Amino acid sequence: MAHVTVLLAGSPIRTNLGILGFSAVSLVETEGLRILVDVGHYGRRERLLRALAERRIDPVLVDHVVLTHLHWDHALNLDLFPEAEVHVGAAEIDRAEAPPASDPHTIRGSAAWLRARRTRAIAAPTTRLAEGVDLLLTPGHSPGHLAVCVREPDGPTVISGDAAPTARAWRLGRPDHVYDDAALARASVARLHDLRPVRVVPGHDAPFALRPDGIEPEPAEEAEFLFREDRERDFRVRAGELPARETYD
Ligand SMILES: [Zn+2]
Repeated sequence: MAHVTVLLAGSPIRTNLGILGFSAVSLVETEGLRILVDVGHYGRRERLLRALAERRIDPVLVDHVVLTHLHWDHALNLDLFPEAEVHVGAAEIDRAEAPPASDPHTIRGSAAWLRARRTRAIAAPTTRLAEGVDLLLTPGHSPGHLAVCVREPDGPTVISGDAAPTARAWRLGRPDHVYDDAALARASVARLHDLRPVRVVPGHDAPFALRPDGIEPEPAEEAEFLFREDRERDFRVRAGELPARETYD
C-alpha cells in the first residue's frame, strides 16, 4: 500500500517585503520506491535534507521526483536528487522554454535542466506512476500542473500542489493565483473534489483531513519571525562600532 509522509508542510504566509514561497514537500512510498512530490526552494534546503536524514534517506536513493509545476518555490532544489527520474507536465516544459512576463514564477532555464536529465513529460490526463500513485493533469494555475492521488489504506490522499494551494482554495473551488487559465483552474479543483479524498496536502497550507463535518487541519509548524529588535544598534554592530551580542542567519 502506498503511504504519504509530509516532509515539509506548506505555508500560506506572505510578507510585504517579498514572497517566502514555502511549498509542501511530500514523500510517497510504495513498492519499495521513494517518490518526492515537489522539492521546495533553497531557503528550505537544509530543512529538507534534515527531514530526509531523520528518515535515513540518502537523496541519491530517491527514485522519482514529481514536480507539480515549474514555479521556483516548488522546484529549485531539484539538483539535490540527481539520480531521480523527474515527472513534470509537458506543458510546463513548453512554458519554461519561454515564460511570458505574466508568469514571473516559472524558473527561467529549467527546460534545459530537464533536458539534461531523465525526465518524463506528462501529457495524459491520468498517468500511473506506481502502485497506488496516479499523476493527474490539473492545469489552470499553470499550464501543465500535476496533482498526485495516493491510495492509502484509509482512503485517497490528494497532493494538490498549487491547483488548490490552501484549505480556502479547496473550499472555494479555485486557486488564489492563476498564471494560465481561470476556467481550467476551477475544473481542476472540481476534478480533485470528485476523487473524494480523505486527506489533502495543499501546496501552501497545513495538510488537512476531510470529514463529513468539515475540514480538519493537521498540526503543522507555524512560521515564526525573528525580528531584529533594534535596527540602529544592528547597523552599528555591522559597522564594527558595537560588539555583536549574537549572530543572525
Ligand atoms: Zn505556483
